[in-house]
Formats: sequence, C-alpha cells, structure tokens
Amino acid sequence: MRKAYLLKSLTRHNLIKASSDVRSFLSSYPIELRDTLERELSEIVVLSGESIDAKTLKQLLLTKIANLRLDVNPANLEAIYIAIANEVTKKIKKTIPSRLIKSDVAFSFDEVDVASIASMRQSFYWMGLDYGERIQEELKNEIERVYNGELDRADVPAALKAKFGSIIDRDERYFKGVADHIILQSQNVAKVTQAQKYGADAFRVRATIDDKTSPICRSMHNRIISAKHLSTQASNILAASTPNEKKNAAMWQTKPFYGTELPNNFGLPPYHFRCRTEIEPVWYDDLDNLDEFKREVKYPSKQVSAKIANKEDHLKGTRYKSVNEMISATIGAIAKEGRHINDASKKVIWGQNGCIIFIDEYGEVESCFKPLRGLSYYEDWSLTFYDSIETKTRIRKWLDHLISNL
Ligand SMILES: [Zn+2]
Repeated sequence: MRKAYLLKSLTRHNLIKASSDVRSFLSSYPIELRDTLERELSEIVVLSGESIDAKTLKQLLLTKIANLRLDVNPANLEAIYIAIANEVTKKIKKTIPSRLIKSDVAFSFDEVDVASIASMRQSFYWMGLDYGERIQEELKNEIERVYNGELDRADVPAALKAKFGSIIDRDERYFKGVADHIILQSQNVAKVTQAQKYGADAFRVRATIDDKTSPICRSMHNRIISAKHLSTQASNILAASTPNEKKNAAMWQTKPFYGTELPNNFGLPPYHFRCRTEIEPVWYDDLDNLDEFKREVKYPSKQVSAKIANKEDHLKGTRYKSVNEMISATIGAIAKEGRHINDASKKVIWGQNGCIIFIDEYGEVESCFKPLRGLSYYEDWSLTFYDSIETKTRIRKWLDHLISNL
C-alpha cells in the first residue's frame, strides 16, 4: 500500500472516530452513491446516442445494465461503529445511577462489537443486492419502452437522461433512509450490549414525540422492556445470515402495540422505516410506576399532587385515599388512550375506573380527575389510538353509570 494512501485513510478513520459523529457519514454516504449511480447512468445515456444499428444498440444497453454494480458498502465501517459505540457509551454514562459507577465508563472493544460490525456490513451488502435487482429491472423496462418505437431514435438519449435524472433524485433519498435505518439499529443494538456491561435491568423506549410520531412509536413510548428480552432479540439480529432471517428477528410494525407480553422479534427499535425511536438503560430501583402495558408513569410533582388532592372534583370526588393510589388504579386498567387533540406531546388515558389522566412526553402525570361530562368529553379531547370498550357495550354502560353517579 502506498504511504500517501495509508496516511489518507488513517486520517479519515481517526477523524470519524474523534468526532464521535456519524452524521457526517450519513450526509456523505448518499452523495457518494448518488455520484456512482450518476456516472453509470450517464454512460448509458452517452452510449444510447451512438450511431449503431438499433438492435445491436439495444442489446449493448441491456448488457451494460445487467452489469451495473453499485458498491454500497461504506468504507471506514469500523470507525463509524466506534463513533456509534462512543456516543452510546456517553449516553449510558448519563443514565447509570452514581451508586453503580465503580470505574470509568468508557467504550472498549469486545467480540460482540466485532459481530456488530460484521452485521452492519452484511446489512449494507443486502441492501446493495436488493437495490441492484430493482434498479436493473426498472432500467430494462425503460429501455424496452424507448425502443418500442414510441420514440424517434434521436430522442432516445434525452428521454433516458430525463428518466435517469428522476431515478437519481429519488434514490439519493432511499440511500439515506436505508443508511439511517442500519445506523439506528446498530445504535440500539450497541446500547443493549454496552449497557449490559453495567448491569442494566431493562430499557426504556424513547420516541421523539411530535406531530409526526407514528402510532406504533406513541404506543411504545416510555415502555420498559427487560434487558433479557432485548439482548435475546439483539443476538438474533446479529446472528442473522440472510435478509429474511434479519427481517424475522426484527419485525416492522405499523399498528400501535397494546399488549402486556412482547413477541420475541419485537421490542428493539427502529420499528419502521425512518423511525426515530431509541432506547435507554434503566435500573428497576429507579422506576416510578408502570401502567397496564408496562410503560413508566411518573407521579406528579408535589405541587400538582397537592392540587389534585385538594380540588373537590378531583381526588375528593373518588373513593381513593391518595393521589398515587388513584393514578395507579387508573393506569392499571386502561379503557381508552390517545394523544391530546391540541398538544401532540401529551397523552390522555381514560381508566376503566372512570378517571382521566393527562401525561406529558416524559411520562409525568399532569392531571388526574373524574370528568363530569362523560365519555364524549374524553373523545373531544383526544385522538384515540386504543379503545378496549369500543365493542364492549357492557363496560360502556358501566362507565356511563359511574359518571352519571359522580
Ligand atoms: Zn418510529
């Protein structure tokens, strides 16, 4: 290897590692692929303008397309992984209770990390195979179309150029999406493997909560998943030796998940394409309270709690002895749930006990009371994602009865 070349790649490796930043990779990777694709396609366009007889030219173009290969495996994958692992370790360090920190929390390589890098490389390779097949098919169809006599020979290069231009624009976004996905999954796998070195009991799901949050991520937000469940799933992802095995180890979900037990192949984000959800380690001693679906709910601040306790139509209007008791009962049996209609960051829970709870994006209770205006009051206030009483008129009648007897 030439000295200058070695120096250049060493510098690049250290730059990525030192910046602890995969964002630079995520912005340059789709552009690199776009450039390669652009070069390949423009060669096809140039070729299509050659004065060769139509039949031979068509064959020539199809052969060229069949040989089209994009190298999608990024260089510096090890450095990218080290950057991911450093970032993850920094985040873990913030969450470890100080009582558990015995020595410095820093990333160090072990065999799981080697497996993670191999798994990332595999994922990029599979993406390349999949993409290669699709693009060749699409290009073949395009050549067939322009050679079906629909176009004048002289117009063929221009027609191909226009078509390829739109493919290039569209696929740059695709490359970014896939790279994002692979990075995000690796980040979350790394979180599971790194945090276990510090004895994390479980992980908390953290979605980015805003207008764009998907129903699945909303339903999983703040859910506590045991480290055992996630490490089994992570091992399955790392052990996958075909694209199908990998898909089966981490199922994509579209519908919100409301269940007490998670299937083996579900729990570790990302949950869908362009998902922004992450996980963070937690220790059981530090958790407040879990709802029916194992999502952490933090009791309100002293101030809010005092308000709930003293208002006539709040705690005093119920049979509960304390605010926390009322909250636990409400979240322990959820009748309905949705996002607040005016504030995408808030969740509204309607308990089967007839109480309503507003929860902020950090899982903290903002208010809890028994609404006087019945079920319709709730429906006006939230976009419902979960409704266990929709089809159960018996419970609905019972709830209405509860409310009318307040
Ligand atoms: Zn998501």
